[in-house]
Amino acid sequence: MTLPSWRDGKYGTKVRAALWLESEVGEGNIFTKAQLREAFPDVAQIDRRMRDLRDHDWTIHTRREDPALKQEEQRYVKKGAEVWIPGQAKTLKTKSSLTASQRTKVMVSDNFLCRSCGIGAGESYYDGGQDSQLDIARRKVVLADGSVQVQLVTECNRCRVGGREREVDLGAVISQVKALAPLERKVLATWVEADGRKPSALEKLWGVYRTLPQESREAVKQAAANEEE
Ligand SMILES: [Zn+2]
Repeated sequence: MTLPSWRDGKYGTKVRAALWLESEVGEGNIFTKAQLREAFPDVAQIDRRMRDLRDHDWTIHTRREDPALKQEEQRYVKKGAEVWIPGQAKTLKTKSSLTASQRTKVMVSDNFLCRSCGIGAGESYYDGGQDSQLDIARRKVVLADGSVQVQLVTECNRCRVGGREREVDLGAVISQVKALAPLERKVLATWVEADGRKPSALEKLWGVYRTLPQESREAVKQAAANEEE
C-alpha cells in the first residue's frame, strides 16, 4: 500500500505529522524542531500535535529519553498505529497520556527505582554519563490466564532507549576483583572459568520479580506469603 502524501490537506495535522515522519524522516533517524516547523509552517503547535502520536504507539524520543540527542533534536524511533487509515486513529485513542498524579502514583509504588536496572532517580550510572531520569513505561504482562495486560512501570531513560553503547573501566573492575575476599574471588574465578553463572531457581525468580510492574509484584507477594495449600 502506498503511503498518502504528508502534504495532503484532507488529513489533520497529527496524521500529516505521522506521514511526514514515515516518508521524510524514517525510523531510527533524527530530525530537528526547525525541520518540523519548516515542513508545517502554518501549524502553531506542531510539536504538540506530533507528541499526540505517542498515544497511538508511536515512539519519538527527545533529549529527555535519549541524552545523546541535542536540545533541538528528536529521534523517530518506531512507527505506531497507521493513523491515516480510517478507524486506526480512533481505536487507540483511549491509550492517552498519563496525568501527573498517575505518574507519581506509579513511581511511588515502584519506590522511585527503575524496574529494569534498579537505578534510582537522579543517580549516576556505574559507567558515568548523565544521571538517571525516571519515566513511566507501559509493559505488557501475560497474566496467568494467558490474557495480556499493559501495566505501568517505572523505567529510567537509558532502559527506555535501550541498547546504548557502554564503556567500561577495566582498571576499576580489576581493582574491585582484587579487593574481593579470598572466598568471593574463588567463586568468581569458577564463574569466569565456566563463562557463566547458573543462578538458582530462587535467584531467577528474584530477578524476574524485580522487573515486574507493581501490580504483578503484589500478586507475587501474595503467592509467596501463602502457606502451602
Ligand atoms: Zn534502568
